This record gives sequence, C-alpha cells and structure tokens, in this order.
Amino acid sequence: MKVKHIPLRKCIGCGLKNSKENFIMVVRPPKKGENSSLQVLQGKNKKGGRSAYICASLDCLKKARKTRRLERTFRSKQATETYSLIERML
Ligand SMILES: [Zn+2]
Repeated sequence: MKVKHIPLRKCIGCGLKNSKENFIMVVRPPKKGENSSLQVLQGKNKKGGRSAYICASLDCLKKARKTRRLERTFRSKQATETYSLIERML
C-alpha cells in the first residue's frame, strides 16, 4: 500500500501547516522582470513561481498584514493591495 505524500505548506499568518488545497495562495508567476503582478488563488493550481500560503481566515490575514509577510516574501509594493484582495475572498 502506498502512502501518498502530501507536501505541507505553512500559513504566513498563524504558522500552522496544512496541505495547499486548504490555503489561499498568493503567487507571482515567473516572468521576465521582478514586477509581474501578484495573483491570489484558491484551491488547486499548477502555477510555479514564488508563492505564499495563508488560511482562509481574517485572523491570519491580520497577522500577516501586521508582520508585513507578503512584503517580505515578494519584495513588492503590490503586496499591500494583495491583502485587500485576499480579504475580499474570505
Ligand atoms: Zn493561518
């Protein structure tokens, strides 16, 4: 019997680990230049690039915002708007 390996991701808010299907994902697709736009995705996807995961929870969003996790992960000014995008998906 094979055990399926599920790679766990860590929430940028509370730090809990979960499989990525349970998170909202913020991704910057690998494109030319550092300024390709950040995308907010939910559920399964196959996009590559730099990514961050967060629980679908307002608490986690607040924590991430407070500690400027997205700014640090993506080194992008767009991160600020991205918090609002996530908020709208909750
Ligand atoms: Zn969380």
